[in-house]
Amino acid sequence: MEMKLESFNPSNGKLLGKVTITSIEEVQNVVMRSCEAARNWKNLKIDERLDLMKKAYEQAKPHIRDMAELLSQEMGKDIQRAAGEVSGTVLGGPYIAEEAKEALQSRLTGSRARIEYRPLGVAAVISPWNYPLAMANNLIVPSLMAGNTVVFKPSEETPLVADTFVRYLQKVLPENVLQIIHGNGEQGRALVESDVHLIAFTGSMAVGKDIMARASGGLKRLIMELGGNDPMIVLKDADMDAAVRFAVASSFENAGQMCIATERIYVDEKIADTFEQSVVSLASRYRPGSWNMPGANIGPIINSRQHEKIIEHIRDAEEKGARVLLGGSQQEKPYIKPTVIADITPEMIMEKEETFGPVVAISRYKTVDEAVERANDSVYGLGAVVFGRKDVEAVADRLEAGMVGINQGVGAGDAPWVGAKQSGFGFHGTSEGHRQFAQVRVMNY
Ligand code: NAD
Repeated sequence: MEMKLESFNPSNGKLLGKVTITSIEEVQNVVMRSCEAARNWKNLKIDERLDLMKKAYEQAKPHIRDMAELLSQEMGKDIQRAAGEVSGTVLGGPYIAEEAKEALQSRLTGSRARIEYRPLGVAAVISPWNYPLAMANNLIVPSLMAGNTVVFKPSEETPLVADTFVRYLQKVLPENVLQIIHGNGEQGRALVESDVHLIAFTGSMAVGKDIMARASGGLKRLIMELGGNDPMIVLKDADMDAAVRFAVASSFENAGQMCIATERIYVDEKIADTFEQSVVSLASRYRPGSWNMPGANIGPIINSRQHEKIIEHIRDAEEKGARVLLGGSQQEKPYIKPTVIADITPEMIMEKEETFGPVVAISRYKTVDEAVERANDSVYGLGAVVFGRKDVEAVADRLEAGMVGINQGVGAGDAPWVGAKQSGFGFHGTSEGHRQFAQVRVMNY
């Protein structure tokens, strides 16, 4: 009997739709079909693959608005942000494909050798729910352009929008070149342990470690974009308004459910009173609400488990002596009202782990060395940000992260997306990233 995966609107718990769960035995069959499809797909010229990819994305174009509404309802982010994500995915797909085509061209060295980028085989793409299309797309496109076929497992929280998107691409792509399977970690584990050659994963650090362990038997290629616990340092000569605006916006974006959300802020004690007051005044203007409620800018938390985890982090901070300046641990599901906590310390869960909720967590420092030390005292190393003037570049240079922002957030469209330490293993984006989805072959001639 077919088992169904139900998808709910996190704002009101209403059932949005169902998809069929892929049985564990079927996962193996899907991978086998992908392996067979790879024989033809890899032999196409890269221009032919590009052409098919462009045509495939054309299929999705007329449906951007509908997919945005679905994404909004299924994940909970507001319609403007959902529309941004869907159009970025659908219109950006062909752009990434073009870029990958350039990156994957063979190159001649000075000593009669040719560097070639060859298909690896079958790629497993496993993605999270917080940016359900964008994260998947970033890994699906270079996988396919490199001549791999793809088995895509979206998050069990957002199967409907992923399924809808893939069905449009499948109208053009040859049979079994891009397949989708549904389920939770069980299906994810089965896929990792199947005969895939590359695992491109975006998700939590814990699952990343599990994937690495399970993939080790076959030494499968891994590209993993994992969680973060991003610090922000505010130096005493920082532009106060800009720092406050960034601190609040980056802590609350996507209801805090963003890998590069600011998770902890270290502010010079000389400006801390003003900083805290200004953060509270701005944060208190944010309104929780459902995806289509006018004026709402903090959506629901994706599920009960995640909500409970955020409350646990806030309560732990309260019990260990933090000052609650706004919000706090008394919250009703599925929302978290804007919360500002001061005096966080290294003993608090909030400082050590990824909270993934709309919380601004602040701590005062006496010396810049102390701020840098606490910012770097983490197993995570995704993003880090510093606001200031005179010494800002020198402080930025000391931060251990894959992406560092100076008086702004992290990440650039024309640079790889990369996590350091345990926030990533391999990376994607731009030529350097796209080439990781291929096997390098050196041909001497
Ligand atoms: P998650 O790790 O719980 O799940 C991600 C995916 O992995 C889901 O599809 C899930 O079903 C699957 N999965 C679960 N267990 C598995 C296993 N043992 N083997 C294989 N697959 C398994 O993450 P999530 O809750 O969906 O997403 C939030 C996390 O993703 C946060 O930690 C966030 O920081 C991170 N994230 C990172 C980036 C980045 O670019 N670095 C981007 C977005 C999200």
